[in-house]
Amino acid sequence: MNPSQFAYERAESVDEAITLLQEHGDGAKLVAGGHSLLPIMKLRLAEPETLIDIGRIPELRDVRRDDGEIAIGALTTHHQIETDAQIRAVVPLLADTAARVGDRQVRNRGTIGGALAHADAAADYPAAILALDAKIVTRGPQGERRIPAREFFLDFLTTALQPDEVLIEVRASVPAEGHGWSYQKLANQASGYAIVGVGVIVVADGDGACSDIRVGVTGTAAVAWRAEATEAALRGHRLETGAVAAAADLVDGGIDALDDLHGSAGYRRRVTRGLTRRAILEAAGRARLG
Ligand SMILES: Cc1cc2nc3c(=O)[nH]c(=O)nc-3n(C[C@H](O)[C@H](O)[C@H](O)COP(=O)(O)OP(=O)(O)OC[C@H]3O[C@@H](n4cnc5c(N)ncnc54)[C@H](O)[C@@H]3O)c2cc1C
Repeated sequence: MNPSQFAYERAESVDEAITLLQEHGDGAKLVAGGHSLLPIMKLRLAEPETLIDIGRIPELRDVRRDDGEIAIGALTTHHQIETDAQIRAVVPLLADTAARVGDRQVRNRGTIGGALAHADAAADYPAAILALDAKIVTRGPQGERRIPAREFFLDFLTTALQPDEVLIEVRASVPAEGHGWSYQKLANQASGYAIVGVGVIVVADGDGACSDIRVGVTGTAAVAWRAEATEAALRGHRLETGAVAAAADLVDGGIDALDDLHGSAGYRRRVTRGLTRRAILEAAGRARLG
């Protein structure tokens, strides 16, 4: 099916994109890589009157170290995140996650900003962004905001972004030297989307235990979450197999698991616990805590 008719504007800067969003109001949508928006426009699930193309704004392409953090511009593609030497060295969890998104064509066109703004329940990045405790930086008419990942994902396809804001970059604190990481995913075989995806960061305390652990989960529920009970059960302890298995069984407590044609709620819960266990053990091995 073809999309409904729409007008097309191209923004040359973030400020121009914000002005265009204000001018066109509710009928306007930003487009970056187009790999989430255009498919839903073709299905007529979205019918924007005006598309504002932000895909050629140079300031959204930057990847840089800044004040103990790595800042990744919104237009950075999944392929760039997978292959950028700086990102791989500093936040390998994000590089590994990007490598698991869709197929090569999707990774070449899709952007991290578009993926986070779209907030598909089955998207991969939310798990990694939550485990990294990253911040999402937005700019709108009132200026810039730095939104912690935990406050960004609100519901299915719903984020803390305001309609007149542009997501400009993602900032992650540089994890401790020698940290461990893992992204584990059960992919839908047709699309590649995550039926369940689990991202983990583990930091060793130098004494054989973990001083910090952060676990982000995507796919299982309408919105991605931090598995706080699992983290609390392991923080400050040795990551032995039995303790990890017991903590992983806490991962879906209080979560309303999705139940759809891709998997029942019970199946998703079992997969989530299994992948959480696997991800923590892999991260622990990389932090030499296994
Ligand atoms: C066949 C296929 C398979 C896929 N498989 C996976 C997968 O396995 N895992 C996965 O995570 N994703 C998957 N995706 C989605 C893919 O990752 C998209 O690239 C991504 O979700 C959207 O990025 P985009 O740049 O294409 O955004 P667009 O489609 O251009 O935009 C998506 C939404 O975000 C908004 N937006 C875009 N950029 C910004 C910005 N900077 N600020 C504010 N709002 C913005 C747009 O207005 C729109 O509402 C798949 C897509 C396809 C088509």
